[in-house]
Amino acid sequence: MAQTQMSLNQEQTYTQKLLQIIEGKLKCNIWNREKYDEILELIVTEPQKSDKTSSYYYLVRKYEVLQCGDVKKIVKKRNSSDEDVKYYVCLEDMYSIVQKIHISIGHGGRDIMVKVTNRKYVNISNKALELYKELCEECQLKNVELLVKALLLNL
Ligand SMILES: [Zn+2]
Repeated sequence: MAQTQMSLNQEQTYTQKLLQIIEGKLKCNIWNREKYDEILELIVTEPQKSDKTSSYYYLVRKYEVLQCGDVKKIVKKRNSSDEDVKYYVCLEDMYSIVQKIHISIGHGGRDIMVKVTNRKYVNISNKALELYKELCEECQLKNVELLVKALLLNL
C-alpha cells in the first residue's frame, strides 16, 4: 500500500513537471488525453468535402491512426506499411512508458534511453526522459553510492 502510494506521488510529480516544461512551448506535440482523443477523432472522421480545411490535410499528412486491439492510437504517418510504427503518447501515459523503457535498459543513462525511445515513439522528448531519470529513486541512490565510493577512494 505504502509503495503504491509512493509511486503514485512520483507519477503525479513527474506529470506536473512535464506539464510545466511543455506549457511554455508554442510548438509541442505532447498532448493531454483530451487533446489526443480530439486529434484522433479529427483524423478518423472523414469530413464533408466542404469541411476539408487545410488543418485537416495537415493532420492526415502528419499522422495516421492504428487500431491496436480495441484501442486506436495515433502514429506517425508512414509512406508504406513496411515502415516502422512510431507512436504518439499522451501526457498521462508518458510516465508509465518512460518508466518501462528506463527499467528495461537496467536504469541506463539518458543517451541509451533516447536511442531506445526513438525506435518506437515520436513525441517522448529528451527532457521527458531526463526528468524521469532525475526522479528515479534507484538512480539517485546509485549516484549517492558512487559519490561515497569516490570520496572514499580520495581519502
Ligand atoms: Zn533509474
